[in-house]
Amino acid sequence: MPHVVPVIAFLCARERFFVYNKDRNSSILGGVAMKFVIDQDYHIHSKLSPCSNDPLQTVDAILAYGEKAGMKDIVVTDHFWDKSVPTPKPFWSGFDLIEQNLPLPQGEHTRFHFGCEADMDRFSVIGFNRKNADRLEFIIVPINHLHFNDYTIAPCDFDDLKRRADCYVQRFWNFLQMDYPFRKMGIAHLTDGLVAGGMKNGTFENHLAILDMVSDDTFRILFEQVSERGLGVELNVATERYEGANRERMLRPYRIAKACGCKFYTGSDAHHPAGFESGLRHMHDMVAWLDLDEEDKFKPFG
Ligand SMILES: [Zn+2]
Ligand SMILES: [Zn+2]
Repeated sequence: MPHVVPVIAFLCARERFFVYNKDRNSSILGGVAMKFVIDQDYHIHSKLSPCSNDPLQTVDAILAYGEKAGMKDIVVTDHFWDKSVPTPKPFWSGFDLIEQNLPLPQGEHTRFHFGCEADMDRFSVIGFNRKNADRLEFIIVPINHLHFNDYTIAPCDFDDLKRRADCYVQRFWNFLQMDYPFRKMGIAHLTDGLVAGGMKNGTFENHLAILDMVSDDTFRILFEQVSERGLGVELNVATERYEGANRERMLRPYRIAKACGCKFYTGSDAHHPAGFESGLRHMHDMVAWLDLDEEDKFKPFG
């Protein structure tokens, strides 16, 4: 694999740094390495998202989870597509749907923010406008939502792994060239299986095969832009599904992102109350596997 050596060398050098820091919360030469604290969940669906449609997934239930789990900030990120944004195959409801959750209740220790998961269609158009953007406190964009045939991906690309890999990279790149409020935006579930979603005879291997087709150099170019533009990278992976070599295949993009100086945030992507517990497990696994510190954290809310 090209250019894997510099990334590994970087990580090894970093490990050596910590050999001298048995208690990683102590200071070395004036520097402080605080472990990444799981106190944010920036990807949660309420009952208003059609993929939830769960009467128990209310904003009050979401806030109660946030308080119990010790979250400092949580964000409700329902799907929508603003009716003012032209797209040939509209799929989601408009902004008026997700606004029904306002005003959001606030907790004693947990701040509850109004956000969204804004989709990107097959022409790299994203379904929000400037007016929505001003009202939204956080916007996540799932560049890998390639499970919607003819909406987010052209039918001629749908059943071809290589074409999907090209779409993934092209969408990622196009997104980064746009004039958006990136400091309050994140890239949702970057390595999720949806990049291979809906394919004929789909297998677990497919999404990893697509990720493998994106070279280290290409990821590096993309993540350098992510870092420069100030977006967050979401950690939201069903970690129990990845062992051994597959785990490393899934982690590779995140490791490159980290080496490029990208900042990370955690998201459960819970659609139902039961999703919070597994979400927390996933967050802990990813933070541990990537050996993240507080300085690696994306903090759009201060
Ligand atoms: Zn999604
Ligand atoms: Zn989601």
